[in-house]
Amino acid sequence: LTTKILLGMLAGIVAGVIIYAVGHTLMPGSALANFLDTYLTQGLFDIAGRVFIASLKLMVVPLVLVSLICGACALSEGHRIGPLAGKTLLLYLLTTAVAITLALVVALVVQPGTGVEASADATFEVKEQPPLSEVLVNIFPTNPVQAMAEGNMLQIIVFALLMGYAISRCGEPGRRVSAFFNDLNEVILRMVGVLMVFAPYGVFALLAKTFAELGWDFMLDLGKYFLVVLGVLLLHGLGFYSVLLKLLSGLNPLELLKKMRPAMAFAFSTASSAATIPVTLATVEKRLGVDNKVAAFTVPLGATINMDGTAIMQGVATAFIAQMYGIDIGLGGYLTVILTATLASIGTAGVPGVGLIMLAMVLQQVGLPLEGIAIVMGVDRLLDMVRTAVNITGDSVVSTVVAKSEGAFSEEVFYDRNYNSVAG
Ligand code: ASP
Repeated sequence: LTTKILLGMLAGIVAGVIIYAVGHTLMPGSALANFLDTYLTQGLFDIAGRVFIASLKLMVVPLVLVSLICGACALSEGHRIGPLAGKTLLLYLLTTAVAITLALVVALVVQPGTGVEASADATFEVKEQPPLSEVLVNIFPTNPVQAMAEGNMLQIIVFALLMGYAISRCGEPGRRVSAFFNDLNEVILRMVGVLMVFAPYGVFALLAKTFAELGWDFMLDLGKYFLVVLGVLLLHGLGFYSVLLKLLSGLNPLELLKKMRPAMAFAFSTASSAATIPVTLATVEKRLGVDNKVAAFTVPLGATINMDGTAIMQGVATAFIAQMYGIDIGLGGYLTVILTATLASIGTAGVPGVGLIMLAMVLQQVGLPLEGIAIVMGVDRLLDMVRTAVNITGDSVVSTVVAKSEGAFSEEVFYDRNYNSVAG
């Protein structure tokens, strides 16, 4: 299945590029170009891709809820949730801060924005952002059903932790409920496994559509910005995570990267860490050997608050916009950028394009023109895909490190080469 998913991904990119070339360079306006656009790009690919994303999203809330209730239940017997949560949060914030610092340093050295013309007609509408206090209060649900209906991940996490804890403290009734949730968890994971069969086709459709519409014209003006973001994403995703994993847990990073490939392909094609949760969770548990009691907490939490790739884009974009408009925000400004971008990621869910909204918060904080966002928006789709893959890789690295330090990790599974399925 892994190979099929990767093949689906490649085939999708190639098909998309061919369709774009036919429509824009080889025979623009021809009957063939129209046919491809109407029946494939806007027809078959669009429908198949949307159905595929829907089928993934469908699994997110039941999976996170049930699996975290089981996890919290197992955690409360034997482990203390405090140190686990503390370590996870600390690592999530730390990796994000490193990501954005790295991005700023590279962008200040390479200067991708110097000499770029700031087009005057660019406009960008900012959505009103809730204050930080509101974001913190909102973590606590008033109505669990509403939290689930809205897919509010942090509220679901709080509710599931509370419920799991209560189950473990409830004696005989608790044991019965716990057995039920454990069985339900198996069933839901199996559902994810069933849907995975369609993954290669879903990934193909999503990527074919995206690349058929994307083209390469954007490379002309924003090529340098694009390459800097991409370079830092690769550096962080391959280099920093490898060092972190090796240093903190002594494990072979290549193994992790190899096993995460299908999950990364999902993140890349959906550009949403939230929609990828079922795949990330299944991969982290079944292929990396992280125990459910850790993964069920760290993965959904990470998909919501840990966005290193997004932070990297914000770092480079801020420096780029400052350079383009010739504004020097100084060291204090850049420190503010690091702080705001790290905190901004807490309140925003991992869905496509949310990075740009967070960027608006950062720019506002240091007084840079928001119109800059309209300029970098042109290349954002492709970068969004790559950074989402980095985001979920970060979640998996932190999950592994935390699980190993908590003794909730199987080295045997981690190094097991007999893995064919994504969801076990
Ligand atoms: N699409 C990203 C994610 O879901 C967020 C972003 O960078 O826009 O992780």
